[in-house]
This record gives sequence, C-alpha cells and structure tokens, in this order.
Amino acid sequence: MKYISTRGQAEPVDFAGACLAGLATDGGLYVPETWPQIAPATPDETYSQTAARILSAFAGDAIPSDVMLSLCEKAYGRFAHQSVAPLTQAGPGLWLMELHHGPTLAFKDVAMQIIGQLYDYLLGLSGKRMTVTCATSGDTGGAAAGAFAGSKNVSLVILHPHERVSPVQRLFMTTTGESNVLNIAIDGDFDDCQSMVKSMFADKAFASGIGLSGVNSINWARIAAQSVYYATASAQLGHRPLRFVVPSGNMGDALAGYVAARCGLLPGGLEIRCAVNENDTLARLFNTGKMTRRAAVATPSPAMDIAVPSNFERLLFEVTGRDADAVRTTYDTYAQQGEADLPEAARTRLSCTGLSAGSVNNPDTMAEMERFRQETGWLICPHTAVGMLEARRLPKSDAVATIVLATASATKFPETVKEATGEDAPLPSRCADLIARGEVFERMAADPAAVRARIAAFVS
Ligand SMILES: *Cc1c(COP(=O)(O)O)cnc(C)c1O
Repeated sequence: MKYISTRGQAEPVDFAGACLAGLATDGGLYVPETWPQIAPATPDETYSQTAARILSAFAGDAIPSDVMLSLCEKAYGRFAHQSVAPLTQAGPGLWLMELHHGPTLAFKDVAMQIIGQLYDYLLGLSGKRMTVTCATSGDTGGAAAGAFAGSKNVSLVILHPHERVSPVQRLFMTTTGESNVLNIAIDGDFDDCQSMVKSMFADKAFASGIGLSGVNSINWARIAAQSVYYATASAQLGHRPLRFVVPSGNMGDALAGYVAARCGLLPGGLEIRCAVNENDTLARLFNTGKMTRRAAVATPSPAMDIAVPSNFERLLFEVTGRDADAVRTTYDTYAQQGEADLPEAARTRLSCTGLSAGSVNNPDTMAEMERFRQETGWLICPHTAVGMLEARRLPKSDAVATIVLATASATKFPETVKEATGEDAPLPSRCADLIARGEVFERMAADPAAVRARIAAFVS
C-alpha cells in the first residue's frame, strides 16, 4: 500500500512513512494510492478486531496483522467502555455515537491511542527517535499527551493557544509529569499554532535535525483510525442508510466517514453533514465554492475554532479527479491572495459526495445544550450540541438513521455546561485527581523562530 501527496510533488511512501511524517514534503497531505475495499464490520467483532482489520488494509505489508491486533487491543483496552464507540438512542431515528470514553474524554483519543502504539512499534523497529509536534485547539494536545507521555522513542511538543482552551482541556496536556513533553501556550489562536507547525516542517534542516513528525488531523493514520467507528456504527444499526452529523473543525473526523464509505465499510450508503460553529469556513466552502481566509473567533466549542479546515484538501483531491496540479494551484492562490475559487468541475463533483455543511451560532449552541437536557436528561458538550442542532435542522427522513457524533464529554467543559443548563458536570472518578497534579507549561509569543529555538533546546 503506497501513499501519495495531494500536491503531487513528494515521493510516494508506505504506511509507516505516511504515519511517521504527518505532512508530505511538498506541503500536501498523504492519501492512499488506491482505496482498499474492506469487508464491512459485523456486530459480533470486538472494536479492536474491526480496527485491526481496517488498519491492516491501510498498512499493507508495513505491519503484520497479528501485531496490528495486539496494538489495537493495547490502545482500546484503555477505554472506559468496552464497545469504545457505543451508540445510544436519543429519540426516534436519532442516535448519539459516544466517542468520549478514552483517557482524555474526547474523540481524539480514539485515533491518538493507536497512533501512540504505532509510533512505539515502528520506531522500535528502526531504533530511531522522533519529535512529535502538535498544534491543538484543545483536545488533540491532551490526547497526544495521553498517548505519548513517557514514551521512550518520542519527544512530544504541544502548541496550544493561550487562554483559548478550556481549563480541563489544558489540565490534560499540562499534568502528565513526564519529561518528554514540552507544552507551549502561544499568544495567538489555533491557526497561529498550526501555521507555526507548518513553518517547522517547511524548515527542512530544522525538521530533519530533530526528526520532526506531526500528529495533527493531517496525519493519515488518524483518518484511518477514525474510519473504524463509522464502520462499527453501520454494523450496530444493521447497515441501514445512515446520516452522520459531525461537529467539525479541521474536518478530519468527517473525512474519515467519507473514507469509510469509499472503502466499502458503509454498505447502506451515507450522508455526512459537517456541523461547524461561527467559524464557518467549511459551510461557506460547500455552499459557495469559495475558500476565504478569515481569523478564527472564540466560541463555546473551542475545539472547532478553526478558520482553515486542513482536511478539505484531501476531499478536493478526490473531487478534482485526483488532479494534484489543480489542488496545488488552488492552495497557492489561497496562500497568496487569501481566497480561491474551487474549480467548477470540482464543485459539481463535491455536491455528489454525500457531504455538506451547515453552521450554528453561539446562542443557539447554548440553547441546544439545555433543550437536549430537557428532552433526555443528558448533558452534552458544546461541540456535540452544534451537531445536535444541525441534525434537527435537516429534513426528516424515515428511511435514514441519523447519528450525531458526541465528540467530547460534557465534563470537559463544566463552565459552559453550567452556563447553558445550570447543571454541574463533574469529572468522572477516573480523572478526578487531574486538578491536584500540578501543571507544567511555558508561555511564548507567536514568533516561529523563537519557538523553533526553544524546541531545539528541549530535544537536544
Ligand atoms: C477536534 C474536535 C472536533 C473537530 O474535529 P475535526 O476532525 O477537527 O473536524 C470536534 N469536537 C471536539 C470535541 C474535538 O475535540
């Protein structure tokens, strides 16, 4: 199984190469050269068995399938629910897929836990050491810390936007107590953090000097790992036609659903509705065909405060008929002019992918948290509420089961939950010692050269 870049100017790599690199050397994102066809999940497989089958299809010869199964069992053994991604019914024709049973209470754990195992295994084979860097809008950093803290082969560097993540999100990243983790709070927003990571990769001497690798949702292994729960959801509901409503930021999660469908894992057929907050780049992209640069604004759903949905590039690659030149031209134009129009043929194909997007404003998000509590007695996180409200707005259809992805636990956002519903959302007992652990992080200006120098000193 080979992986090629969406910008067409990087050498193809195998699964290990795509997984350990993150971003391709030409600034593009890796995608499989062809889509493997994988047998759908069955309801009597364990989550790890389904995950190992799917990941093995993406890994090809890079990892033996028995090794893959044991890596999956280690990764998913750390979840508090043995189904890993259970569905619960929230109303007629409506389900929540609970993706927050991992160590840091958000869906990022589902991919990051297996990525931690994959890195340890692959680096163990080569005897190499790497510096994993991640820009986070809140949950990726915690999930990466949960996966890599204490790793012998990896130094982990997390960049998060100072005071733009929730206190509990911050605690998950800053309290590992492990010396292989450097956490930097950047004076800026998530897009500043992300562009700093991109500039580190662009500085080839720096990147190769520290063995730089990235685990943002641009990393192919994350997409592959997230396609698994679309497959298990389809099996749980008897492979009916499904409509997933996906709270979206960088669009990694929604893209994983598209990938699952391309690989034959959703035989009933699917629609994917990306639900975004007031950072509505994705909704404007789907609805107008135009990419426009705007600064991210702070909302009650901070993990989705993203102005540049990076994974759209993978979808663009598909809807241009895998035309890397067209992708490169579009992103070059966007980089130079701050906006770009999608090629006309790509817009037409985009409307046939089953994907679409809509946005939900801040007051409606808060109101939905309370409305859902009144209907079900359950507390949902603000990201999930964005998805839930978007699901209500879609035309009803008896033939289609709607699944809203519950991307984080309400307990990760207790301040917002309290404001919206008046209820307390205490951390589950397995995380209750978080506050007492003592935080370690450093604050820095959004100055790429200074941040690079700090990282070089940290890993040397
Ligand atoms: C990361 C995150 C999202 C957005 O996921 P993308 O893959 O970036 O679209 C939504 N909700 C929560 C809670 C998250 O942590």
